Amino acid sequence: MPVPQAPADIASRLSTWYRATARDLPWRRPQFHEEFGAWGVLVSEFMLQQTPVTRVIPHLEAWLERWPTPTTMAAASTADVVQQWANLGYPRRALWLHRAAVEITARHSGAVPRDIESLLALSGIGDYTARAVAVFAYGDRHPVVDTNTRRVLARAIEGRAQPAPPSRRDLELMASLLPDTVEEAAEFNAAAMELGATVCTSRAPRCDVCPLAHECAWLGAGRPDTGDGRRRQATYEGSDRQARGAVLRLLRDVAPEGAPLPSVLPDWPDQRQRDRAIDSLIADGLAEADGATLFLPADDASEVLLCSVSQHGEFDPAAHLQLGEHAAEVHLDGTDRHPQSLRDVTVRRPADRVHRDLELTRREL
Ligand code: SF4
Repeated sequence: MPVPQAPADIASRLSTWYRATARDLPWRRPQFHEEFGAWGVLVSEFMLQQTPVTRVIPHLEAWLERWPTPTTMAAASTADVVQQWANLGYPRRALWLHRAAVEITARHSGAVPRDIESLLALSGIGDYTARAVAVFAYGDRHPVVDTNTRRVLARAIEGRAQPAPPSRRDLELMASLLPDTVEEAAEFNAAAMELGATVCTSRAPRCDVCPLAHECAWLGAGRPDTGDGRRRQATYEGSDRQARGAVLRLLRDVAPEGAPLPSVLPDWPDQRQRDRAIDSLIADGLAEADGATLFLPADDASEVLLCSVSQHGEFDPAAHLQLGEHAAEVHLDGTDRHPQSLRDVTVRRPADRVHRDLELTRREL
């Protein structure tokens, strides 16, 4: 399907509106960029993926105060990272961010890469985040399309109430609207997101204050119900996600030293769901069990190091040094102290051991 024709001045209208009304958010301030650079943008984008802005801001500040660079975070333990993620939700993001920090430290000497291909090669980074970092941290000219932008484009240009499922066409449409200069292109990307977040919202678009009201195809057609093909998010209440959150909260806030397995949510209404939650947290690397105790992951730096080693198929002595104490997790198989390839390195995999222990424990209980 061809990309639809958009009104010629949509970018300049949106950008003018953005300059006058944009929210003052930490990652938009020059000082934030001076202090944390692309790392700050990367962390903020990880957190914003599925969490509202107001909840992200205090967590982001605390996070960057503790780990102001990828290298400082690479040296942190997994337990510290999960602990610090607190109640931001979808905690796998914390593990991915940690892994990305280790990969940046090992592969890019601690500097967040600039090109989209290298960004996409990092753990937990998809097309949106890679583009957002390239544009908002480095000022490059790329289309950036998030949920809010897709909704604005669907309504203003295509006359639909809600966007179709994500596709490359979104990027093509946004690319066709981008102003020529890098500064204006970055501003337009931010402006489209801002409009979707604050005015053209999913449930209650405020067309009366919208800068695109005159040319909006959906408003012009009388805001018809054109259907909604979006996937519904499962209800949180009673879900496995809720059980996982409850287990993690216990480990984080009540029993940071570990909790005996029988004491983990003993009154949870569905004990099979409780078991599933524990199993899945362990499988994701967010918890470990040793004997009859469940605890936050002691340290999976060995597994992370495996990623950095396998990326190039060679052991990187620099990564070895930068990971400091974690290097002790790597055992060398009958070689000298400078292994040359992955074949020379045996990495202890805590998750494997943990799974086995948990199964034994379950049988004993
Ligand atoms: S006029 Fe209404 S529907 Fe159209 S872009 Fe603006 S807020 Fe969205």
